[in-house]
Amino acid sequence: MNFNGVDFDTYFKHFPDKNGFFGKYGGSFVSPELQKAMDEITEAYFTICKSRKFIAELRRIRKEFQGRPTPISHLERLSNSIGNVQLYAKREDLNHSGAHKLNHCMGEALLAKYMGKKRVIAETGAGQHGVALATAAAYFGLQCDIYMGAVDIKKQAPNVARMKILGANVIEVTEGLQTLKEAVDAAFDAYAKDYKDSIYCIGSVLGPHPFPLMVRDFQSIVGIEAREQFTGMTGELPDAVVACVGGGSNAAGMFAGFLNDPVDIYGVEPLGRGPKLGDHAASLKFGTEGIMHGFNSIMLKDENGEPAPVYSVASGLDYPSSGPEHAFLHELGRVKYDVVDDEETIDAFYKLARMEGIIPAIESAHAVAFAMRLAKQMDHGSILINLSGRGDKDMDYVIENYGIR
Ligand SMILES: *Cc1c(COP(=O)(O)O)cnc(C)c1O
Repeated sequence: MNFNGVDFDTYFKHFPDKNGFFGKYGGSFVSPELQKAMDEITEAYFTICKSRKFIAELRRIRKEFQGRPTPISHLERLSNSIGNVQLYAKREDLNHSGAHKLNHCMGEALLAKYMGKKRVIAETGAGQHGVALATAAAYFGLQCDIYMGAVDIKKQAPNVARMKILGANVIEVTEGLQTLKEAVDAAFDAYAKDYKDSIYCIGSVLGPHPFPLMVRDFQSIVGIEAREQFTGMTGELPDAVVACVGGGSNAAGMFAGFLNDPVDIYGVEPLGRGPKLGDHAASLKFGTEGIMHGFNSIMLKDENGEPAPVYSVASGLDYPSSGPEHAFLHELGRVKYDVVDDEETIDAFYKLARMEGIIPAIESAHAVAFAMRLAKQMDHGSILINLSGRGDKDMDYVIENYGIR
């Protein structure tokens, strides 16, 4: 399929290019010292990802440890409450540890093992990436250092406990505002000092090349499974595919299965409390081109051109940029990006729980909310939602702030 001059039959061969660019987005903008580490990872990944042993081991792990393939569920009662359009959910909430994040963490940790590394390093904000990586590190017997702002450590006690039980070192970062940005800086510093024995594991399709490529590849299992399962269940392709976009990894994985199909694809960003800067994290909708955290993409900037403060009811979506591939697919128009605010999200959270018996992560509830809106606009057809994770982590917060509905 050709779309605005890009041939999607050969898309994965050409995007990103060998320097990690999706059009003008992506690349690697880091210090010479870190670039050496990135080059080492790139070279290792391109060799190892083609090895039969690596592929076979990853397949075995997905099946025996993660419980893949995760099913697709037909959301029959929810669909009927809206009209004729049929909604389906790809159940990444049933992936081990409760979200899609383990898909790329197992891949990254397996790569670390093949490269002979002893330690994995990462930052975490809400703690979801830290928990997934700590899970992978425990499985492979790797040391795991997670950098986390002191403020976040206080806010996210259950995830800090999970990481510690899994054997990770949670390193408190007390610089600046003591949140995600400072944690990223501290983790990158630690990595630059000791990349011989360590590998940095980025938590989404973000950061310098090769991470946006590598994380997409590891997450594409979601889209590959979903396409096969959906056509098996219904005899046809879905009319639309929907996923929420924070950094963009669950969306990139799902979309990878359908980019070359006549399927409408939608990424959903968090509008939070509204369109004022600081009240949302809808970077593709409101942002401009810029470089941060080692890559060029669309980002939300403050008056000094620095990453702007962002907000979303979903802590996994509050990042001031999105992966470079999303900036590219947005520019091309192959994927449409839209926004859903907190209120519509909480409504969808409760609807899915009450009508289907599934408590979604608040992140995933953004995709559910958009699909429900889309279903009202279409008079027939089907929509496949990527249900990126389960909502156990969000229950206390929802009850405290929104009450039982
Ligand atoms: C982290 C997280 C997200 C957002 O990350 P992406 O990289 O955009 O997928 C979405 N859903 C859940 C459940 C998460 O934990």
